[in-house]
This record gives sequence, structure tokens and C-alpha cells, in this order.
Amino acid sequence: MRSPPTELKSFSGLDRARPELVLARTPDDVAVALERARREGRRAVPRGAGLSFGPHALGDDLALSTEALDAIDVDAASGRFTVGPGARWGAVLERLRAHDWIVPATVTTSAATVGGTLASNALSRFSPVHGKEGKSIRELTVLTPGGEMVRASREHDADLFHAAIGGWGGVGVVISATYQATRLPPRACVASTVRRHASFEVLAEALRPAASGERTVYAIVAVQRDRIRALEITSEWVEGRTLRTMLPHQPASPVRVPIEWGVNRWHAISAAFWDFTYLVYMRGADRTPFVDDLAGYTFFMDGHLRAKRAADRFGVPFRSMQQTFVVPRAADLAPFLRHASARIHGEGLDIALLDLLWLPRDEPFHLSSSRAGSGYACTFSFEGPFDTPRAARVLGALADDVESLGGRTHLVKNVFASAENLARTYRDGLDAYAAVKRRVDPDGVLESVFLRRSFPELFEPNRATGR
Ligand SMILES: Cc1cc2nc3c(=O)[nH]c(=O)nc-3n(C[C@H](O)[C@H](O)[C@H](O)COP(=O)(O)OP(=O)(O)OC[C@H]3O[C@@H](n4cnc5c(N)ncnc54)[C@H](O)[C@@H]3O)c2cc1C
Repeated sequence: MRSPPTELKSFSGLDRARPELVLARTPDDVAVALERARREGRRAVPRGAGLSFGPHALGDDLALSTEALDAIDVDAASGRFTVGPGARWGAVLERLRAHDWIVPATVTTSAATVGGTLASNALSRFSPVHGKEGKSIRELTVLTPGGEMVRASREHDADLFHAAIGGWGGVGVVISATYQATRLPPRACVASTVRRHASFEVLAEALRPAASGERTVYAIVAVQRDRIRALEITSEWVEGRTLRTMLPHQPASPVRVPIEWGVNRWHAISAAFWDFTYLVYMRGADRTPFVDDLAGYTFFMDGHLRAKRAADRFGVPFRSMQQTFVVPRAADLAPFLRHASARIHGEGLDIALLDLLWLPRDEPFHLSSSRAGSGYACTFSFEGPFDTPRAARVLGALADDVESLGGRTHLVKNVFASAENLARTYRDGLDAYAAVKRRVDPDGVLESVFLRRSFPELFEPNRATGR
């Protein structure tokens, strides 16, 4: 189980670490590794597929991979299923869709693991209607650094349950998770209509999903200086029918890699691509829906991942960075987007893409960005040869700007925000999270670069015990 230090990096490539990588094959392996870490005063970070944009799954001491714990057990009649943390969402969706079930917050890449996404409390394009991933989770089996195997749910040790979901592996290693899936129409595919807008103003209203029904709505926006081309997309699961596939929803298409490379590397190609999409490709899409294969729609970012992996293999630079801000009030959305775009452009940076969706108020998961209330998740993406320190600086400034609106930086993707900003904006849940961490991990064994950098107070010596 021991191995020499392995170089690991984040998806954005901005963070690297050289931990000893421990590949757990059984829950016992996890227990042994945690016990060793505790005895030897080591630090350990749980790890899934390692696709986090930032250093969420990185640490320089022990990296404890649960990828091999990938069992999937589905009760086809009830839609309840129990999975190991290493199960990939591609395999989970395949098993669920065979019985017309889905987890609405399934992430956009089939390669992410259940452990990684539940520790992120992931969101999807169906989150405006169905919330984040935590909402579908019924029970977790968590191994604490003290060696205790705890079953945590809303009814039993709810505090640990609320800390572990979206808790970035800081309060225990998840050994298994039980979900309640949501019913799909028979042989479901996804139907989407698209409306086009040339300004931010109408989006706040448009992005609130209708009170009834399963239709979700989100927006993808190209922002080039003063030119705004927003696609408002309304999607729903429908009974199987003839497909009319939208180009980005064909992640396995052979043209996807060259398109992704071109768009990533040259802003002019990206602009031309958006002109074509907005002016030509989406014409009439408000009346005639696209009908996508369920997996193609759900995992559309697999094309991006394939392009990145191919670029890495050939030594071609392929960089991407994303940060999400949650703006609580509808009235603040358009002014914030205008302000943020001007600030980014003012620094000489291009916005590769902006995507927007509305998040309902979450359950009290301690580190959830929507724990305190609903809000608009606004994700700014940067791609290609951009100036990283400058982008990090402007994103940090925007984190302060969104705080002044009562909002916060979402903790999935990259997080450029000061620890002071994060302590203030997450205070309502951070104290509860810290209390759970002190209880189950008094020696501070579980630590990632992300948690230490973002919430250093979690690692301050406990005044009561001196540890
Ligand atoms: C192409 C792509 C598409 C994406 N799409 C989405 C999306 O649609 N929605 C979204 O919200 N995010 C998305 N993300 C971000 C994604 O949610 C996170 O990167 C996710 O955590 C990745 O899963 P992973 O298996 O790679 O986890 P890792 O990066 O390995 O780990 C993520 C976190 O989970 C913790 N962890 C892992 N396993 C365990 C365990 N067994 N017990 C406790 N903690 C554990 C780690 O310590 C770390 O804090 C995307 C990322 C990429 C690269």
C-alpha cells in the first residue's frame, strides 16, 4: 500500500503536490492508512479522480485514494442505491438509466467519482429545480480518523452528515453512500429549447424556474466587451423519441477535440464560434427543440476532458480556470455581471464563457454556498494563454464585491478569495463544521491544501485540548 511520492496536480494545473499516494482496495485499507497517519502525526487527504479545479484533493503528505471502492448496488424498484466512493458517475448513470432513474445533480463529466462530488455537494443544470447533490443523499458511511465507522443521515448524527456533504473530505473518509434517485420518463432523453438575448437585463427573471413542472432553465453567455450573446436554455427529461442532438452534447464526436483546442487557444476562434452559434445554429431553437441522448447531454464536458487529456499527452498547452459567485438578489444580478465583466476586461483579460443558473436554498450543509438562501450561481471561465496572477487578482476582488451584495464565492472550481473573506461569508456554517471536525478529527489528520488555505482556523490548535 505504500508508494514513493507521486506528482499530482489540480485540473487547472495551478497547484501541484508530491504526496505518498495510498490506493485503498478495501475499507480496512482506509482504516489502516488513517490509523497510521494518526500514529505518525501525518496529514491525509481523501482523493477520487483528482478532477478538482483547485487543490481540493491535494496535500503534500498522504493522499488516500478511494477510487477502487467502486461497488454499485441499485434497487431497481425503489430507486435507492448504495455506492462506493470510487464509483464513477458514468457507471452510476448507466446502471440507473436502465431502470429509468437519475440523480438530478449528476455532474457534467462521467469520470468524476461519487466521493469527490458528494464532498463538493455538486450542482448540475437541473439544480434550479432539484437542488444540489446532497438533496438526493439518504445516508453516508464515514470512517473518522479516530477509526470509528459512523452511519450518518438526517436522522442519525445529522451534524456529521451536514458536514461531510460538501465538506471536502475534512471530517472523515466516505466509505459508502446511499442515494434516492429521481424517476425519469421511459427511455428518457432531454429536450431543450433556446432563447437568445443580447443583454443581461432579462436574465434574472428568465432564470427562475416555473413553480411547477420539471423544466430547468440556465444560461450560457458569451461576453465580448460590450457585446453580449446569451442563450437561455430550458431543458426537461422527456420520453424516448427521435434525437436532434445539439453539437456540444456529442462529447464523443471526433470534431470535438479540434474545436475545443481551437476555442481554448485562440480567442478569435472562440468569438467566431459564438457568432456562428448565436446567429446561425440557434436560429429557430426557441420553437424546435433539440432532443439529446441522456448521457450525451449529462456528460457534455467529457469532450472538454478528452481534449485536455489529449493536449497533456501531446504537450499542447490547454488551460482553463473557473470561479463561481453566488449573487442572492435578482435585482443585483445584471449590475454585478456588468461590473464583473468590466473589471475583468479592464485587466486586459477575456472571458471564455459565463454560465448562470439559479440555486434554490440548500439544506443546512455546513459549507454550502446556498445554505443561507437562494441565489444566482455565476461562473466565469478563462481559457488559453491568459495571465494567471492577474486573473486570480481580479477574481479575488470580485469575491469581495459579491460579499458586499450579501453573496459568496462557491467553493467548487477555483477559489480565489482571501481566507478572511471566506471566514466572513461562510461564518454561519463554518462554526458548526469546525465543531464537527474537532469532535471527529481532534488531531487534524484530514487536511488538504484547499482547506488549509481557505479556512486556516480549522487547523489552529484547539485551545481547550492544546492539540
Ligand atoms: C470536466 C469537469 C466537469 C465538472 N463538472 C461539474 C459539474 O457539473 N458540477 C459541479 O458541481 N462540479 C463539476 N466539476 C467539478 C467537480 O465537481 C469536482 O472537481 C469533483 O469533486 C470531481 O470529482 P473527483 O472524483 O475528481 O474528486 P477529487 O477532485 O478527487 O476530490 C474532490 C474532493 O472530494 C474529496 N473526496 C474524494 N473522495 C472522498 C471520500 N471517499 N471521502 C471524503 N472525501 C472525499 C477530496 O478530498 C476533495 O476535497 C467538474 C470538473 C471537471 C474537471
